[in-house]
Amino acid sequence: MCGIFGIFNHPKAAELTYLGIHALQHRGQESAGICSSDGEQLHVHRSTGLVTEAFSQAQQQQLPGNMAIGHVRYTTAGTSDNLNAQPLVFRYSGGQVAVAHNGNLVNAQRLRTQLERQGSIFQTTTDTEVIPHLIARAGPPILDAVQDALRVIEGAFALLFLTESGLIAAQDSRGFRPLSLGKLGEGWVVASETCALDIVGAEFVRDLQPGELLTISADGLKATACLAPNPRAICSFEYIYFARPDSEINGVSVHAARKAFGRQIYAESPVEADIVVGVPDSGIASAIGYAEASGLPYELGMMKNRYVGRTFIQPSQELRQQGVRMKLSPVRSAITGKRLVLVDDSIVRGTTSGRIVRMLKDAGAKEIHLRITSPPITHSCLYGIDTARRKELIAAEYEVSEIQEKIGADSLYFLSAEGMVEATGRNDSSPNRGHCLACFNGDYPTPTS
Ligand code: AMP
Ligand code: SF4
Repeated sequence: MCGIFGIFNHPKAAELTYLGIHALQHRGQESAGICSSDGEQLHVHRSTGLVTEAFSQAQQQQLPGNMAIGHVRYTTAGTSDNLNAQPLVFRYSGGQVAVAHNGNLVNAQRLRTQLERQGSIFQTTTDTEVIPHLIARAGPPILDAVQDALRVIEGAFALLFLTESGLIAAQDSRGFRPLSLGKLGEGWVVASETCALDIVGAEFVRDLQPGELLTISADGLKATACLAPNPRAICSFEYIYFARPDSEINGVSVHAARKAFGRQIYAESPVEADIVVGVPDSGIASAIGYAEASGLPYELGMMKNRYVGRTFIQPSQELRQQGVRMKLSPVRSAITGKRLVLVDDSIVRGTTSGRIVRMLKDAGAKEIHLRITSPPITHSCLYGIDTARRKELIAAEYEVSEIQEKIGADSLYFLSAEGMVEATGRNDSSPNRGHCLACFNGDYPTPTS
């Protein structure tokens, strides 16, 4: 999971890219980077940390030109050091190219081994770096080289390339990761989520299609079907957890989808209770949906400290455990003596839910009926979401009743996959209405290596 943003033909390209990746900060907090082009050469700044930490005002101003791409990184492949921060910038026989990637390539290791045997020397441990090596091998013109590379890589990718003279955006043949096109005055903007288009005042034009490639240059915008499209398999977790509620993904409001999950989970698993509480942030909309459907009052039973990042994103389990204590606290007056329906988005390793249940019980909650707005996660994600290795997934190891016991909840229910797909309400004729469900059912849409 990462966030990408690109802009073409705007005098303040780097500054708007800064705003764009800041709006995508929830998609990755390990590093941030921007690369701009002044028409003759590329200028790049990358650093670890949040966007506001990675860039000073002066550093933004050192990125001249009217086109730029930016990236926020969340480690799924490779380690989380400065070297792996994107955009990656490289020089091939046709000039300079920068690349920013959201997703994960399933055949990166195999390609890397082949390329290394043929003499390539890799600088980073990211899966993304195979792309520049493939481009360097193909040589100019850049468009042909990019297309050749895209036909070799397999997996999930939303990609932005910046050359001295233009921008290229591409999506894998299944459209795992969202990528939207917007118009800003005489220029164009491409971003992982529509919230980043909104922040710079760009007007949403459309989502990229699976397998589509856009070239944006002084000659205008040109769309090509680069890869034969496969049925759409948008990551369900974009709706469940990752995307910002003010974004629309493939025509569906993330907030509306989450509310619908809450209504659906009430339909599937109603329970006697006094109040409905959502775990901030992604559980709140669903809790409101549950409250509306059940007629129970929605209560602010928990508070989130806004100044602590997403717990899960910190790489080690030990840090995650410390993080959850810093992040959430109970609102005693709202929950003492009450029977709670507690709504959260997912259970991955089970650490968070167990701690939250204990914390709310310690604060006086009488009963806790945990409702999870995703099905049990039984398989690892190969496409860029860190859902942990299979043996760390609590639902891969234990039955629902055992998980309930471990977590200490009075009841536990996971939304059905059918209910989740139905509630999202995507208008898509692909299997599962265009959703990837691999981490719930092991049915991976791509070859797996
Ligand atoms: P745990 O069960 O303790 O591993 O963590 C589950 C919580 O982590 C969920 O309630 C989400 O808020 C959050 N979460 C779920 N999936 C992810 C993910 N892929 N990356 C980061 N956080 C996640
Ligand atoms: Fe998303 Fe799960 Fe598919 Fe990964 S396996 S892309 S987390 S739905």
